[in-house]
Amino acid sequence: MMQLYLLGYPLGHSVSPAMQNAALEACGLHDWRYASLALPPDRLSEVLTALRTADCAGANITIPYKETLLPFVDEVSQTAQEIGAINTIIHREGKLIGENTDAVGFLQSLAAYGCSPQGARAAILGAGGAARAVAWALGNAGVAHLALYNRTPARTELLAARVRAGFPALAVDVEDLAALANADLIVNATSVGMWPHVDASPLAPSAPFRPGAIVFDLVYNPRETRLLREAAEAGAQAIGGLEMLVHQGARAFELWTGQPAPVAVMQRAAQTALAQLHQEE
Ligand code: NAP
Repeated sequence: MMQLYLLGYPLGHSVSPAMQNAALEACGLHDWRYASLALPPDRLSEVLTALRTADCAGANITIPYKETLLPFVDEVSQTAQEIGAINTIIHREGKLIGENTDAVGFLQSLAAYGCSPQGARAAILGAGGAARAVAWALGNAGVAHLALYNRTPARTELLAARVRAGFPALAVDVEDLAALANADLIVNATSVGMWPHVDASPLAPSAPFRPGAIVFDLVYNPRETRLLREAAEAGAQAIGGLEMLVHQGARAFELWTGQPAPVAVMQRAAQTALAQLHQEE
């Protein structure tokens, strides 16, 4: 049996096991399994040792370990190094390699909706691991302006410093409400609005959206968050996080297995698993 894990703490319901197991089955990898593993901080070193065993192909990393686990792997891809966070570990011949597939997943999802960030005025809410990946993706995609907002200002400043160092030509603003009102693309990379706190939104109801702006919420549970509902009502194009989840998972699948990911199978499995979660609520 070849094992893959989703590591995080605490771990709520996730659709990743259903999505990845459907992909493994569709590719004939019948002796592979993907399972959630709630990993308290005092078990980190034990589990990192377990990842190096011959029957483990790797893991996905989620809240709160995307930044903290980076120093504990043997190698870090250039992308993950530049982002400063890992969401995937690949186990190859006793070595653990840290990678970040959130950035590519975000860009592929945007492209699937026909959106190109090149030249756009973008705003990111949040400054955690996911925000770092989105900022890196948008910098690489050639946005013209980036505005950053976060509950903890010290973290916003850290992210701004990282973006300015990585993309010196990019104009970066912190906590500028006028930039939010003028943004072509607003990305929620906070966990605000995620089930079960579905009545919460990272923006006040009075926050202005430019008509025609794109509002992208990384939260995928629920599929339509309060932010997305209010954005659509205000005339914005609202995009949820499920497609990004599928694309980041597809890239991780390819790195673990060396096979092309069955993206349509993963998309269907993720949608079904999410619908089942809501039936259980
Ligand atoms: P993280 O590193 O823990 O960062 C969480 C972020 O949310 C921080 O900026 C935090 O602000 C902010 N936040 C949390 N609670 C808040 C509150 N009550 N009010 C205001 N801000 C709050 O987590 P992450 O890995 O970046 O993930 C963030 C979200 O993106 C999660 O919902 C995750 O599920 C989602 N995500 C989705 C995908 C996808 O494929 N769709 C991929 C990655 C992540 P502070 O800095 O002030 O704590």
